[in-house]
Amino acid sequence: MKQRLRVCVLGSTGSIGANTLDVIARHPERFEAVALTAHSRADELFQQCLRHRPRWACLPDPAAALDLQRRLREAGLSTEVLQGPAALEQLAAHPEVDAVMAAIVGAAGLSPCLAAARAGKRLMLANKEALVVGGAFFMRAVQAGGATLLPVDSEHSAIFQCLPEARARWPEVIDHLVLTASGGPFRQRDPDSLHAVTPDEACAHPNWIMGRKISVDSASMMNKGLELIEARWLFDLPPERLKVLIHPQSIVHSMVVCRDQSVLAQLGTPDMRVPIAYALSFPERIESGAAPLNLLDFAALQFEAPDLRRFPALALAWQALRGPEGSTAVLNAANEVAVASFLAGSLRFTGISELVARCLEQVLPAADEVGSVAGLLELDARTRAKAQELLGKP
Ligand code: NAD
Ligand code: MG
Repeated sequence: MKQRLRVCVLGSTGSIGANTLDVIARHPERFEAVALTAHSRADELFQQCLRHRPRWACLPDPAAALDLQRRLREAGLSTEVLQGPAALEQLAAHPEVDAVMAAIVGAAGLSPCLAAARAGKRLMLANKEALVVGGAFFMRAVQAGGATLLPVDSEHSAIFQCLPEARARWPEVIDHLVLTASGGPFRQRDPDSLHAVTPDEACAHPNWIMGRKISVDSASMMNKGLELIEARWLFDLPPERLKVLIHPQSIVHSMVVCRDQSVLAQLGTPDMRVPIAYALSFPERIESGAAPLNLLDFAALQFEAPDLRRFPALALAWQALRGPEGSTAVLNAANEVAVASFLAGSLRFTGISELVARCLEQVLPAADEVGSVAGLLELDARTRAKAQELLGKP
């Protein structure tokens, strides 16, 4: 019998985490969820442990971790509860873990992702911010550790699915990539009214159900900006060979334009279980739980060029991508602070890009900050401090 793949799900209580557990549960003969980690939703983590009976669970807060341990014992489970940030790295690199689903949101996922990369795991990457912050350094860690990096972001999974299995052949095949974007909830809204939109309006995505941070990023199109940067590293392409098209139906998940002008695309209903299932089963394919795509449900598939006045965040991502190394880490940290502030009701929606632009001007990455995790985390912290300071004096 084939050995089951032992999966560690970092961020199991989130949208990607829950979808991953859904796919795993459909294939008990193939996959085993051996480690589950969450940030705060202890009750949900408890329920997931009852369902999946992992060997390890992890919560950062010591009191919450102790409480979870007690509840699991009372329920008759032998799951061991770990706590603290070092525990995430320990689980991601554990010899009895084969694959890591990186589904933490934000730069907080960088260190555990690097730990998985260095330990040579099958690293299924949803946590795009980790790659946006880590850039070249992250990719070197993947190579040095002999890890298999598999994209989970739907656009990057689409591109990956269109490319030959042998990475060495990618440069010979690709002319350029086209990332598709839904345009989010504000695609047709008057740009002059965007200053007044609420967090709930920004999180009401027309096609995808996702965590709140990525939903706001989709509304500002910073998400597509982060994805351009992600594509730059995953597929090793310069910015001029990356393009973005708005495609409101979210059916064509992205495209590879080949040297011979043949265009390859991957299509499907918008359901993250498809790219998750592919990352879990690659190079094979398994049932994902997604509904079949019926093209007859669509009278037309539309494509539009993105309007950079409506979506200045996308222009800022291009700017960071072309800027000095480390600029994308500044972009990401400033955006994380801005989005948290918008969700808390203390920053206008249009203030998000304004704050990111000011941080890109005022925080200059130092050469010694981009060559180590400590340096990158220092740059991240320095940018967050600047963003907080700027929020204090508009
Ligand atoms: P989410 O907010 O629903 O879940 C985030 C998870 O990370 C939760 O389990 C939370 O407990 C954990 N977490 C949050 N902060 C943490 C911290 N500081 N330390 C440790 N754990 C922490 O987010 P999501 O929508 O599932 O997105 C997760 C990642 O996947 C993001 O990077 C997002 O950009 C990416 N992604 C998501 C989707 C989607 O459909 N949701 C699609 C593509 C990419
Ligand atoms: Mg995406």
